[in-house]
Amino acid sequence: MQIKVGTYYSEVWKKAINNWNSKKVFRFKIVSGPAQITIIPAQSNEATLIKQNLVGVAYVDHDDTKRIISVKLHLVDTLLKKNGYTTSQRVNVAEHELGHAMGLAHNPSKQSVMYKTTRYVTIQPVDVKNVRNLYSIPASQYFINPPVTVSSTTNNALITDGAGDRLYKSPFESETVEPTKEAFW
Ligand SMILES: [Zn+2]
Repeated sequence: MQIKVGTYYSEVWKKAINNWNSKKVFRFKIVSGPAQITIIPAQSNEATLIKQNLVGVAYVDHDDTKRIISVKLHLVDTLLKKNGYTTSQRVNVAEHELGHAMGLAHNPSKQSVMYKTTRYVTIQPVDVKNVRNLYSIPASQYFINPPVTVSSTTNNALITDGAGDRLYKSPFESETVEPTKEAFW
């Protein structure tokens, strides 16, 4: 993981990393050279993300077997500031993005750091359990739909593929959104 030391956001990321590492299910190691996970500076190139009202984003590249190859993480300083996120709330968002870096998808429950618009909730036991589960199965099975009844009609087959595709892609390009007045969520 590439991370510049000494800045405010480095401290935010370090706290989030330490919090995950303390759960003992995954080990993030901070290095100074090239890394699998890169932190994009929070102030850089934010215009598009601001337009979409995203306070954080995880860009995840993976190979054909769904094994994660590289990840870029980005907290969006302008929106975090504008919406009055405290430091610990920013750490929660960083924990959420690190969750994506490990391969976690969104959790529909608000009692999860992987809730789509997480702000107030840190890493929960369910999140730790989900990471443990994720790394106890072969990578090729990540984000695969539960077994579906195969229909013989072309239409149903297409729908099944479409759903699989969405499930497959959405966790990797998801982001944390804090709903505000102008949000479409
Ligand atoms: Zn997310």
